[in-house]
Amino acid sequence: MDDFRKPSVLIVDDEDRIRQVCSKMLTNEGFDVAQAENAEVGLGMVAKRHYDIILLDLLMPGMSGLEALGHIRADHPDTVVIVITGYATLDHAVDAMKKGAFDFVSKPFSPQDLRLVVTKAIEHTRTLQDIANEKSRVRTMINHLAGGVMTTDAQKQVALANHAFLNLIDYRGPSPIGRPVDELVSDATLLAMVDKALAMPLDQFAEITEEIIVQPQVTPGPERIIGVRCVPFRDRLGRNLGTITVLHDITTLKKMDQMKSDFVAMVSHEIRGPLNSVLMQQKVVLDELAGPLTDKQREILQRASEKIQALVSLSSELLDLSKMESGLINMDKETLDLAPILADQALFHLPKAQAKGVSLELAPLAYLPPVLANRTNMEEVLSNLITNAINYTPAKGRVIVSAAHDADYVCFKVSDTGFGISPEDQARIFDRFYRVKNEKTRYVIGTGLGLPIVKSIIEAHHGRIEVKSEPDKGSTFAVFIPIAQK
Ligand code: ADP
Repeated sequence: MDDFRKPSVLIVDDEDRIRQVCSKMLTNEGFDVAQAENAEVGLGMVAKRHYDIILLDLLMPGMSGLEALGHIRADHPDTVVIVITGYATLDHAVDAMKKGAFDFVSKPFSPQDLRLVVTKAIEHTRTLQDIANEKSRVRTMINHLAGGVMTTDAQKQVALANHAFLNLIDYRGPSPIGRPVDELVSDATLLAMVDKALAMPLDQFAEITEEIIVQPQVTPGPERIIGVRCVPFRDRLGRNLGTITVLHDITTLKKMDQMKSDFVAMVSHEIRGPLNSVLMQQKVVLDELAGPLTDKQREILQRASEKIQALVSLSSELLDLSKMESGLINMDKETLDLAPILADQALFHLPKAQAKGVSLELAPLAYLPPVLANRTNMEEVLSNLITNAINYTPAKGRVIVSAAHDADYVCFKVSDTGFGISPEDQARIFDRFYRVKNEKTRYVIGTGLGLPIVKSIIEAHHGRIEVKSEPDKGSTFAVFIPIAQK
């Protein structure tokens, strides 16, 4: 029933006077009213169109109201029936309620009595309709997701599984709804995840992640690698009501990742080896084991060694990045308190800041709700941002680490009073290998891989990173990580 349509009422009563009185009153109240003088006519009308409410007299010549009630409940479960009882006895009303009537009014009744019971019925149908609409919206949404979604109840029976889920696990049988999950899913890892999620204690909330391999049998094809995430869902008291499992096809991602890893392994083998041997040979010369050097020669060789050293560390960082990214695709997340991690990281980088004459402070932290994140990843993000802030801030400058609760996120910031970044460069610093080149930054050694790593970690956590910066004033990097939903 939408709000733009008048609620419809059908009055079924053999007494003309009752029909007229009710009809007049309900029409005045804004209802769309129809009348029937007996049960047979009433049922005929109900078969033709939907009525929100039926006022049904129990005692009529011909078919009784009670019998008509049975037909209406069976064929039109969305219609609310209010019975009109002719006697001052409750027996008939009780019978009717047992057969599914929503409420009753006893003759003689006042307009006020009628208004009350009809209003209550309308509220009831509205609530039912809202729930039905909401269910339909969620079902449509889930059925159109590209990812596979399945929910189970606490008894491990399937409550919902969308087409993508059935396709991804290569299921082609009858509808799995209401059946035990192990009739739908055969993969032991996935079944164990459902068990683990259901057994998760009240004070813990974690997303369980795994990768599974599906070898399609029903529709033969290449094997698929599927990323699986599973969480319990809970009632208001925190009891586990069931589980939600989400699947993503990561076959292409994994294949590309493998190619990249192979390439990186090749690079580190083919390039790092010779580079290291060049470094060794230069060292032999620098140590004057091959004869004396002039100051000029020493200076040139030293600079060459530094450049080669930078190339060696670049190839190590590349290796790190590729390891990180393959790990990131499926990394266990836990409910995490960021405050101690912020404090640890600020403390850890203090000696480096002091050596450069830059102050490093942690702003006092208010309460931070826990986030769902991977600890090592969060440390990596902070470490990169703090190192950058120190590196790109001249002596006597300041670096401040702070954090606050911001709507659905915890936001932590690393601010500095350093060189700043121009608006054009701000758009590019998250690109791989991009480094700002100017007089001030040219003496800072780096690879241009720190911020891309930071960004991919944050995206894997469904968060975001923002930068505000003004050249010669300083920069603030703000990271938003979603808070853990209970
Ligand atoms: P790297 O520091 O190794 O060069 P990053 O990816 O961490 O690589 O940073 C990319 C570039 O962004 C840096 O070269 C630097 O120019 C700029 N940058 C990053 N952080 C800051 C900062 N806090 N202040 C000024 N410039 C920064």
